[in-house]
Amino acid sequence: MRVNFLCPLCSRENVYVTGEDPQDFTCEHCQSSVRLEVSESVQQRSVVDRCVLCCKDLFFVQKDFNRKLGCAIVLLGAVASVYTYGASLLLAAAVDWFLYYRLPEVTICYFCNSVYRGYTPNPKHKGYDLNIGELVESAIRDQKA
Ligand SMILES: [Zn+2]
Ligand SMILES: [Zn+2]
Repeated sequence: MRVNFLCPLCSRENVYVTGEDPQDFTCEHCQSSVRLEVSESVQQRSVVDRCVLCCKDLFFVQKDFNRKLGCAIVLLGAVASVYTYGASLLLAAAVDWFLYYRLPEVTICYFCNSVYRGYTPNPKHKGYDLNIGELVESAIRDQKA
């Protein structure tokens, strides 16, 4: 399993791969040591149950969709549609749809947005829930206040 997360100090992206020693993880950008709590379930069974960075247990799953790529395809289709009388727009939408359904899913932490890839799915995790998302956001706001 791979976890992409932002360094709590410099907010830049780091990758933790299970099997590596989480004890002495250092940020690859600012070299500060980052405290990772890797649960047994994550380490042994590749099932995400607790966030390695913030230790919370609220996650949602979504397609590993590259938004930039998706937008580029649609944009290309839109530009070309002037010459193809709209046909390319339909084609772009079809390509987008095809890509979307073939994509693997990623698991994301509601609290710190760490992204987990290459795991065994946890049946408890569902798609993004707006209610949970709002609760989490207000919890984070309260923390900062
Ligand atoms: Zn850092
Ligand atoms: Zn987290």
